[in-house]
Amino acid sequence: MEFTLPIINNPVDHTKPVRPVRVPEAVETGKKAYIVTFGCQMNELDTQTMYGLLAGLGYEKTYDIEEADLILYNTCSVRENPERKVYGQVHSLKELKEKKPDLIIGISGCMPQSKVERQKLWERLPHVDLIFGTMNIHRLPELITQVQQTGQRVMEVWDEHGDIVEGLPVVREDKLKAFVTIIYGCDYRCSFCIVPQTRGRQRSRRAGYIINEVEQLAAEGYKEVTLLGQTVDAYGKDLGDGTTLASLLWRLNEIDGIERLRFMTSHPRDITDELIDCMRDAEKVMEQLHLPVQSGNDRILKLMGRRYNRRQYLELVEKLRANIPDLTLTTDIIVGFPGETEEEFEDTISLVKEVEYDSAFMFIYSPRPGTGAPNLPDHVPEEVKRERIHRLIEVQNEISARKNAAMVGSVQEVLVEGKNEKEPGMLNGRTRGNKIVTFPGGEELVGRIIPVRITRARTWTLVGEAEVPAVAGTA
Ligand code: SF4
Repeated sequence: MEFTLPIINNPVDHTKPVRPVRVPEAVETGKKAYIVTFGCQMNELDTQTMYGLLAGLGYEKTYDIEEADLILYNTCSVRENPERKVYGQVHSLKELKEKKPDLIIGISGCMPQSKVERQKLWERLPHVDLIFGTMNIHRLPELITQVQQTGQRVMEVWDEHGDIVEGLPVVREDKLKAFVTIIYGCDYRCSFCIVPQTRGRQRSRRAGYIINEVEQLAAEGYKEVTLLGQTVDAYGKDLGDGTTLASLLWRLNEIDGIERLRFMTSHPRDITDELIDCMRDAEKVMEQLHLPVQSGNDRILKLMGRRYNRRQYLELVEKLRANIPDLTLTTDIIVGFPGETEEEFEDTISLVKEVEYDSAFMFIYSPRPGTGAPNLPDHVPEEVKRERIHRLIEVQNEISARKNAAMVGSVQEVLVEGKNEKEPGMLNGRTRGNKIVTFPGGEELVGRIIPVRITRARTWTLVGEAEVPAVAGTA
């Protein structure tokens, strides 16, 4: 693809870290840690950071919960179901704790950020030794040491975030693709969402730290970086120095070794023309966008506090597609928001048909204590919600299958990620649009970006034939 590098109007700050964290040398203790992760990619990255911090205390990662000396549950509060699972699963660890009295069990993440919930966890799960939140992960080594030295239960949750702590160690399992958080928290107040309470106000990392981290990842052989944030496209708004997600992406686009850049999750209000131009012109920025719509009806969007209407959203999609014709577009949708009528739900169906998303995360509305929506009148009966989501899934599945089928015969640029564990002799990779492609090939192709001709489409994945030699990026 040909492109011209535009002048960066808002050059980003590229200072070296001024407050590096002292990471203790890993010591060998033979101890093992097992972390269960619920929720989004930000939680996944927090888990990888916890493994990094625990390595400094001599804890190695294990995949066998029975042999763990430390079990942590990194929790999610976005929906009710994962919360229930945490109670069930942690409760069932009681027996293991009785067999192994030195076992430390901890709960972290979004659930403890609610004062009511953490009290409940503390009282209902007395065999839990440690409770901490999303804002004091860096305190994990001290908190574990405190439990070990005193033999007492410890609960430390910060309700206010402090400075962003830079330089925490991360143990990444994947050797090709890495997540990098660039903005924490969220300044929107969508009426269904608990995130502003659990993750705090919007705080962007300084660009210099991010660039250093991505340069380090490139030096370690990583090929793909996904920038993370609850509203990743709002990146920089709070820095006050003109830095934007687009200007950051342009800087990252120049880092040798990094072949692919992605970002998620975006709020439709924060997608700027500058960002669209960057997605179109910066070769390493993939033509992929996750753009939650949540509902296709204006009254519901207003009650949700989304700050855009159907027309504005559709205009944005049109502009994106006009500039980036190959865009892979995905979304989040909530079904059965309080007061949603059949006609209002039909508006969501019609929007989905009009936009034709590549795929969608579709959820039944789940009331979250501490948010505004549970106080709204006319909650939709559960069976109506279930019936609606089935209809929506059916519509979206048909669209996803059709869009994948349209790719048969095309040649896609694929980053080869590894062996397909279920199909011997096959490899898995991803297109620029982040679709999974399975194709026959040897392990020597892993880590390379190669052309793959699509021969068959399934609803969620593609099947193809590699057309080596590679088009870009060698192992
Ligand atoms: S933009 Fe809305 S849905 Fe997204 S994290 Fe913020 S409050 Fe939650």
